[in-house]
Amino acid sequence: MQIVEIYKSLQGESSYAGLPCVFVRLAGCNLRCTWCDSEYTFTGGHRMTLEEVEQEVHQLSPGGGLVEITGGEPLLQERAVVPLMERLLASGYTVLLETSGERPLDKVPRQVIKIVDVKCPDSGEGDTFRIENLDALTPHDEVKFVVASRRDYEFARQFIEQHALIARVASVILSPAFRKDAAGSRDVSHCLVDPRELAEWILADGLNARLGLQIHKFIWEPSLKGV
Ligand code: SF4
Repeated sequence: MQIVEIYKSLQGESSYAGLPCVFVRLAGCNLRCTWCDSEYTFTGGHRMTLEEVEQEVHQLSPGGGLVEITGGEPLLQERAVVPLMERLLASGYTVLLETSGERPLDKVPRQVIKIVDVKCPDSGEGDTFRIENLDALTPHDEVKFVVASRRDYEFARQFIEQHALIARVASVILSPAFRKDAAGSRDVSHCLVDPRELAEWILADGLNARLGLQIHKFIWEPSLKGV
């Protein structure tokens, strides 16, 4: 499979945020979100066998722990990534899969925790979520909305209500979008929506969703890769 990087850091943007995690970042994406901070994954990477990836994960986190399969869009390499997830599960890892939900999710092993990033209109990739994927969500999965405006928030709120998401998955997360050229200071000035404003919208609407912050961008310099 085509891999950009494998590294260990803290999980940054789900209800697992803050836990040590090995990231397996696959190359290639079929979307072009306006605020994407992973454009370096669109091309390149290097070929690795399933065994090589597995071995590197074992070296970085011997004996289990959290592994996140991410990208890019990892399900563009479904034929390789599904067996990889199966093998990591069999070795005792907790496996997270970060995906936009544009590709079918029905082949993803059920024990994998899917973190599905449903694209809002201001991402420029709204309407890309494959609606049949709602049936593939399990109670341990998570759905995330990256919010860049009040319009995005309204889209997310309606989507959550229309599809009864709160009852369907373990966590529904609303996360302020980060400016893609963010660099320097580690603070909320890089957020396209002020987290306080987003918190107030959630509270005013009585929405039982979690406010998420990309904590790695507050711990490390926001333009740093591989953290
Ligand atoms: S789906 Fe993810 S990797 Fe692809 S363009 Fe959007 S943010 Fe970037």
